[in-house]
Amino acid sequence: MERADFLILGGGVAGLSAAARLALHGRTILLEGEEALGYHSSGRSVSFSHYGIGTAPVRALTAWSRPFFPPPLGRLFPTLYFADEAALARLDALREDMAALAEDVRIVDAAEMQALFPVLRTGPGGALRGLLDPTGLKLDADLILQSYAREVRGAGGNVLTGRRVTAIEPGWTVRTEAGEAFAAPVLVNAAGAWADQVATLAGVAPLGLTPMRRTIIVVDPPEGTRIEAWPFALSAARDFYIQPEAGRLLVSPVDEVVDDPCDARPEDYDVALAADRLEHYTTMRVTRIAHRWAGLRTFSEDRVPKAGFAAGAPGFFWLAGQGGFGFQTAPAMAAIAEALITGGPWPKGLAELGVAVEQVAPGAGRLAFGPA
Ligand SMILES: Cc1cc2nc3c(=O)[nH]c(=O)nc-3n(C[C@H](O)[C@H](O)[C@H](O)COP(=O)(O)OP(=O)(O)OC[C@H]3O[C@@H](n4cnc5c(N)ncnc54)[C@H](O)[C@@H]3O)c2cc1C
Repeated sequence: MERADFLILGGGVAGLSAAARLALHGRTILLEGEEALGYHSSGRSVSFSHYGIGTAPVRALTAWSRPFFPPPLGRLFPTLYFADEAALARLDALREDMAALAEDVRIVDAAEMQALFPVLRTGPGGALRGLLDPTGLKLDADLILQSYAREVRGAGGNVLTGRRVTAIEPGWTVRTEAGEAFAAPVLVNAAGAWADQVATLAGVAPLGLTPMRRTIIVVDPPEGTRIEAWPFALSAARDFYIQPEAGRLLVSPVDEVVDDPCDARPEDYDVALAADRLEHYTTMRVTRIAHRWAGLRTFSEDRVPKAGFAAGAPGFFWLAGQGGFGFQTAPAMAAIAEALITGGPWPKGLAELGVAVEQVAPGAGRLAFGPA
């Protein structure tokens, strides 16, 4: 049996970022069931940091986290939200939501949108107005995961892959499929889509997390087109986005299909939907889909990520519900986990941005949304 001060279950961005901080306070062991870190959601992310997603606490967690992504972990990448007639009110609401956090956001007209993103359909029936945020950040997901893992190891901790936990006893002792045992007084449940299942394994009441599938297709740009300077473009209607990456275009129909925790695969319907939306919003024609994938985005009931000890289960710590913003909020959520687990102060500046312990507490938001 190997003993530690902190056991982290899950080798995605949530578990790794928390482990990097906890390793500075005591012996830390992270256990990942797959052979590779980030095999599930964290390896399938579009890994962008922007304010066009999530509730007010999510935007605040995003703002707090930005300084933790200096180059090459993050690089400035303009973000363009565009609206057709039906979505203009949503664009205005988004502008208001973002105003306090991103000062340089400004309205752009059809001509400027065309200049920025030449394939966008503009004019009657197409995009009429846009919102340009020059402060979006493209994150390097792999580099971020590896640098957290390096920090854990550098502080004397262990990051162990191929360790699927199949039994958990209060106290906490966990056993892997292969029969190894690890024990620590604090167990951090950062198991992503499986976090409720892990809680059940530990005899802790689940939070009611919902994994939702999201699909990405990858297509070639129109022949002879230079796309490096294209923005990350999102419909204000929240049914489409497109992002240039490594000479190709990532496209999503922004699907949210409830799924079970699993190795998510793209469904034909969602792939076709992505192609259809691409042809609807742009002048591009889809003749070939170079690549496709799907991943799970796992939400708490109020869509605010959760960090905190489970009631009635001393030492069992939730770090779950990162939804579609697990990368952009990871530094803040890891700092919150560190503070709550080690008894340190609330992360400096977070309260001023409007994030209090009650909002991220496991179970928070249930009353607002009624019984689970
Ligand atoms: C298509 C797509 C686009 C996205 N775009 C963005 C974006 O632009 N910006 C952003 O911030 N976020 C984005 N996200 C969301 C982001 O990827 C997630 O919020 C984040 O990866 C969740 O991290 P996690 O560590 O909680 O989960 P995961 O990465 O899934 O990690 C959980 C880990 O726990 C392990 N595990 C589970 N059960 C056990 C067990 N019993 N024993 C051992 N290990 C176990 C799993 O194997 C898994 O590796 C996107 C997600 C998708 C799918």
